[in-house]
Amino acid sequence: MRKLAAGNWKMNGTQSDLAQITQIGAAFDAASVDILICPPAQLLIPAVTASPHVAIGAQDCHASASGAHTGDMSAPQIHDTGATYVIVGHSERRTDHGETDAMVNAKATAAVDAGLIAIICIGETLQDRDNGATLNVLAQQLTGSVPALATAQSTVIAYEPVWAIGTGLIPTLDQIAQAHAFIREHLTAQLGATAADMRLLYGGSVKGSNAADIFAVPHVDGALVGGASLSAQDFAPIITALQNA
Ligand code: PEP
Repeated sequence: MRKLAAGNWKMNGTQSDLAQITQIGAAFDAASVDILICPPAQLLIPAVTASPHVAIGAQDCHASASGAHTGDMSAPQIHDTGATYVIVGHSERRTDHGETDAMVNAKATAAVDAGLIAIICIGETLQDRDNGATLNVLAQQLTGSVPALATAQSTVIAYEPVWAIGTGLIPTLDQIAQAHAFIREHLTAQLGATAADMRLLYGGSVKGSNAADIFAVPHVDGALVGGASLSAQDFAPIITALQNA
């Protein structure tokens, strides 16, 4: 399986930032891992042509292909931009927009139906972890959010503890190992053999300084990176660490 270094720019970035994508592509023009940037929606079309070495994805999609949904974008529309991935169920969408596992499942299905690769995000809150409920929460999210049609080719899972996103806090390497091993096991029971090759990303305060340790953890096949993906200077050491893992 090719590992994946994915960047989520969230609601950051204007046209002048496209140069960061071009720079990353130039620095990794023969990368041994897949590189992805998910810019805000208005940059999707120019981002697709910013570098042939960087894949482009959206940060959300609607579950319907078209219709009366002001302000939303559908998976076929994202595909039409030339983008190849879409993030669904990011914790900020689950919190800000009340997205449930069933809604995430419908969005992931729409994404795969449109020919996109869906990155489905799951992760526990600090309260879940303090209550000893982490693995139960992950199981519930996997069962609810990952559609039966998901395959290793069409779907990526991002394990993102909510309390580690944008905070500078990260779980211990043992905690990451436990979560990723559990996710692999659960997906195998849920989806069968395809789960063995499905990429499992860790996300939450990944930086150049901690990336190598995180990528050495079993069943960590890459990262979903927020803040440190905004500049080529910060994202490059993470890609290098993934190539060396
Ligand atoms: C994210 O946006 O998914 C994320 C993990 O953010 P950060 O790397 O900034 O914690």
